[in-house]
Amino acid sequence: MATTHKVTLIPGDGIGPEVTAATVSIIEAAAKTTGASFEWHRYDAGADAFAKTGEYIPKELYASIEENKVALKGPVTTPIGGGFSSINVTLRKKFDLYSNFRPVKNLPGLETKFPGIDMVIFRENTEDLYAGLEVMINPDIAQSLKIITRKGSTRIARSAFEFAKKSGRKKVHAIHKANIMKLSDGLFLKCCKEVAAEYPEITYAEHIVDNTCMQLVMNPWQYDVILTENLYGDILSDLCSGLIGGLGLVPGANLGVNCAIFEAVHGSAPDIAGQDKANPTALLQSALLMLRHLDEDATADIIQKALEAVYAEGKTLTRDVGGTSGTKAFADAVIAAM
Ligand code: ATP
Ligand code: MG
Repeated sequence: MATTHKVTLIPGDGIGPEVTAATVSIIEAAAKTTGASFEWHRYDAGADAFAKTGEYIPKELYASIEENKVALKGPVTTPIGGGFSSINVTLRKKFDLYSNFRPVKNLPGLETKFPGIDMVIFRENTEDLYAGLEVMINPDIAQSLKIITRKGSTRIARSAFEFAKKSGRKKVHAIHKANIMKLSDGLFLKCCKEVAAEYPEITYAEHIVDNTCMQLVMNPWQYDVILTENLYGDILSDLCSGLIGGLGLVPGANLGVNCAIFEAVHGSAPDIAGQDKANPTALLQSALLMLRHLDEDATADIIQKALEAVYAEGKTLTRDVGGTSGTKAFADAVIAAM
C-alpha cells in the first residue's frame, strides 16, 4: 500500500490559481499510473486570505505546513510601497527555510540564445535586506538595514557545497560586493571561504555581483553552482531565467531543517492573470523537485519525460516561450504525452 502524501497547497493569486490547477492536474494524472497518492490541503494567503479570515496568513495554514512538512505554493502578490509585508518572506522566515535552491537548465527543443546551460543557484533566504528592517530617519531619509550573520552565511554555504558534492558538481562561485560592503559581504565571504576549505575537491571562486551580471550574459557556461545572499540571489535568478527562456520555466525549493516549500521563481504576473496565458512549467518543475523530495521518483520521471516531450515537439507551448497555447491546453498536452 503506497502512503498518501499530505501536501499543503497554496494556490496564491494572480496567475497562481491557474498554474497550480495545471500542476495538480498533471501530478494526479501521473499518480494514476504509478499508484502514488496525494491529499491536497488547500489554503489562501495574502489579500484573498485577509478578505476571508482577517489574517494574511491564516493560523490554519501555519498549522498545516507544520504538520505536513511539505507545501506547494503559487505566487502571492506583495504590494509595492504600503500594505502588508511579503507573504513569501514571512513564510520563509517563519519556517526558517534558509536555503533557496533554483536549478537553471535548458528544456530540450526550446531554442534560446544560450544552449547547454546547467547551473544551480543557492540563495540565502532569511536575512540580508529582506529582513525588512526599515525606518524613516526623517521625512527625507529612509534607512534599510542589511543583516548578514555568521550562522546564516555558513549554513547556506554548507547547503551549496553539500549539494555540489552529492551531485558531482565541480565549482562553487560565491557572489558578493565585499569591496563596498566590507563588513556584511565581507563576513559572508569569510564564511563561504571557511566552508569551502572543507571541500578541497570542489573549486571555489569569488565574483563581484556586477561583474557576474556581465559574465552571465557573455559566458554563462563558466558557472556551475552560484552561492549568494538574498537580494543578489533574487536578481541573479531572474537574469538566469532569461538565459533559458524566461520566468515561466525556472523552479525553486525553499528548504529548512524541518519543512520545505516548493515554489516557482516568478511572481504573480498580474499583467497576464486570469487569461489562461501563464506557463505552468516553472511550478510544475518545482513540483518535480517536491516529488523527488518525497521519494516519488517514478511519478516525477513520468512527468519529466512528458514535459520534455511536449517541449521537444514544440507544438503546444505557451506564449512566453513562442507558442500560442493556453495554460490548460499545455497541461493537457503534458498529460496526453504520458
Ligand atoms: P516578484 O516581485 O513577485 O518577484 P516580479 O516583479 O519579478 O514579481 P513577475 O510576476 O515574476 O514579476 O513577472 C515578471 C514578468 O514575467 C511579467 O511580464 C510576467 O507576465 C512574466 N511571467 C512571470 N511568470 C510567468 C509565467 N509563469 N508564464 C508567463 N509569463 C510569466
Ligand atoms: Mg521577481
